[in-house]
Amino acid sequence: MKLSEKAEEILEAMWIAIEEEGAHFIEVEKIGIDPADPSFKELTGHALVEIREGHLYFRQDGKEEGRKTIRRHRLAERLIMDVLSIRGEEGDEKACEFEHLLKKGVDSKVCAMLNHPSTCPHGKPIPPGDCCYEARKSGDLGVLPLTEFKANEEGEIAFIQTEDSKKMQKLMAMGVLPGNRIMVLQTFPSYIFRIGFSEFAIDSYMAREIFARRI
Ligand SMILES: [Zn+2]
Ligand SMILES: [Zn+2]
Repeated sequence: MKLSEKAEEILEAMWIAIEEEGAHFIEVEKIGIDPADPSFKELTGHALVEIREGHLYFRQDGKEEGRKTIRRHRLAERLIMDVLSIRGEEGDEKACEFEHLLKKGVDSKVCAMLNHPSTCPHGKPIPPGDCCYEARKSGDLGVLPLTEFKANEEGEIAFIQTEDSKKMQKLMAMGVLPGNRIMVLQTFPSYIFRIGFSEFAIDSYMAREIFARRI
């Protein structure tokens, strides 16, 4: 279902008030969107919500849509704040823009890359998707820091998590880039790994900032 961004915002506000805070409904006036805005008609037209005496109620499909919307929002927050290290107001803004792109299976890819997180950076729950249940069932641990790899284990690099741009550049110069294969050769006293035909040594602090998926 393709909804406008405002309609999605309404569903998110409803999800928080009703599903997380236990209210039975939310007042149209409290949403922060002009009650005359067409997004309300959009939601009632799709039979997602019901408006009675200025109160918004979920209909069955609306609740499911709200769940998916809040999931995308909180996954976007994780991606923007943890992986791209954009925090504060800018992080919030970017997450709001980004969540609308996480559709058609992109959300499960992002979810797998982030290791199926259960909470957003603010500690709020992320409703699990099919990918999360499947990963749990198959014991797939998803993306792990390089420090979880043993010697002779190979992985595919998912992302680098560091706020230090010098370190980032150093790692990138070694070929530590998303999608590249990395072979761990030694884990003590330092981490030695191979990417392509080159071998590099780094300390465990740096190894902790490289995230890869075992292959
Ligand atoms: Zn959050
Ligand atoms: Zn997942």
